[in-house]
Amino acid sequence: MQKEFCLYYQPKVNLKSGNIIGMEALLRWRHPEQGLREPLDFLHLAEDSNLIVDVGNWVLDEAMSQISKWHEAGFDWRVSVNIAARQLQRHDFVSNIQALLARHPGAPAYRLELEILESTALEDMDHVRSIILACQEMGITISLDDFGSGYSSLAYLRHLPVNNLKIDQSFVRDMLDDEEDCALVEGILQMARIFKRDVIAEGMETAAHGALLLKLGCDSAQGYGIARPMPAENVLDWAVQFKPDPAWQDYPAALIGWGRATAESGKTQSELSLD
Ligand code: C2E
Ligand code: MG
Ligand code: MG
Repeated sequence: MQKEFCLYYQPKVNLKSGNIIGMEALLRWRHPEQGLREPLDFLHLAEDSNLIVDVGNWVLDEAMSQISKWHEAGFDWRVSVNIAARQLQRHDFVSNIQALLARHPGAPAYRLELEILESTALEDMDHVRSIILACQEMGITISLDDFGSGYSSLAYLRHLPVNNLKIDQSFVRDMLDDEEDCALVEGILQMARIFKRDVIAEGMETAAHGALLLKLGCDSAQGYGIARPMPAENVLDWAVQFKPDPAWQDYPAALIGWGRATAESGKTQSELSLD
């Protein structure tokens, strides 16, 4: 069955500089009859058994091979891999990553990023914290995925020394029309600043989303408005032709929707509400 799995990659970009900062590896199943299947369709079937651990190890191995190939082609992107809860609970998780890194000398630890769902991290904070620290010690970057979808409290962020927060795409998608989602995005950005964490927005679907993210001070993003996930063999062609959309910098403020007041004034919503 593993021969039917493959990885798609979705770019992460700095909206200000236009630099490609990395790629997220996303699992796909090339089903012989049903065609390309996305993880939410099938991953739950594996999640309750150790199959998810085998699949997860295959994904890590494949992503590290890809990091080496891109390095040979002159592209030193950091590649992120999603880690399932059951995979993280394994007592040999850290030693397994060490062994994989040793097998892939072209994929040094600093080019590898692990994405842990916020909900997974909350399940067993002490264990997850020790894994985060051990991985960071090796040079691996750690992100909290779908951040804000659990219950983001200042207290627990203190105990999870992750490098990066990935703002949940549901807030980003609706922030143009929904005042509260926009406020949530702003709140997470402030929280990231206070705790000195990097932050990236996922689900940036349009240039208007990109423009509002930049106005709010979020420079990094991932989403269909930049590129959809694509097979590995398409990535280099995409990267060579990629140019940042000038609209991210110059989007007419009047078209940004709810974020309009924010965009026109150059102030954050919380500053506006103080006026
Ligand atoms: P995720 O890690 O939060 O990944 C982002 C998902 O959002 C991807 O869906 C991606 O295709 C989609 N996406 C990206 N940009 C946009 C956008 O602008 N708009 C919208 N509506 N969607 C966007 P995908 O590939 O179907 O993956 C879904 C989830 O499956 C992932 O969420 C991740 O939690 C899980 N997953 C994917 N690959 C793996 C894997 O190798 N291992 C494990 N354990 N989980 C994986
Ligand atoms: Mg992810
Ligand atoms: Mg996510």
